[in-house]
Amino acid sequence: MAQDRKSLIHNLPERSTRSERDRGKAEDAVRTLLRYIGEEPGREGLLRTPLRVVKAYEFLTEGYQQNPKTAINGALFVEEDYQEMILCKDLDFYSLCEHHMLPFMGKAHVAYLPNKRIVGISKLARMVEIYCRRLQVQERLTTQIASTIMEEIEPLGVAVVLEAEHMCMRMRGVQKQNSWVTTSAMLGVFRTNHETRHEFMNLLRDGR
Ligand SMILES: [Zn+2]
Repeated sequence: MAQDRKSLIHNLPERSTRSERDRGKAEDAVRTLLRYIGEEPGREGLLRTPLRVVKAYEFLTEGYQQNPKTAINGALFVEEDYQEMILCKDLDFYSLCEHHMLPFMGKAHVAYLPNKRIVGISKLARMVEIYCRRLQVQERLTTQIASTIMEEIEPLGVAVVLEAEHMCMRMRGVQKQNSWVTTSAMLGVFRTNHETRHEFMNLLRDGR
């Protein structure tokens, strides 16, 4: 079925079953890590830490249990008369980098030029959130958001820009305190038409 191919594109692994037994093993792994860094997992302040850490990761990686497409395709409606760009600016997002499992976060700007079909803004935000709650690299996250809109809303074009700060850069390694990473994905008319792209860039720069 086509579903298999799409799962690959969207980095959606088989629905993971998080059993109580697996949770116990995950807590053991946190205890091992605590011991490794020089802590004593048995001391009072850390007794419930493994459970808390595992629950935090369950929440932060909830996106593996959810399908980003269903967030959108239940909320599409036909709007014949509106043909201007729709821009959803400054969407806050929080994700985890797949290299260090440390947070990266920032703002997402999502625009599309509708072709008779539009979707509720909150559904767009929800779709972004589902992709964020997986282990990610910023580039792939950007592409996934853009291609899902392209496939599900079938607009004339999509533009996605993500601006993020990465804790793995700020807190460790190079410790680049003020670095921001910007990624973008332009599809359809945003790729082929300069005017459309410029309009998008201008809208990003001005008017809040
Ligand atoms: Zn990283």
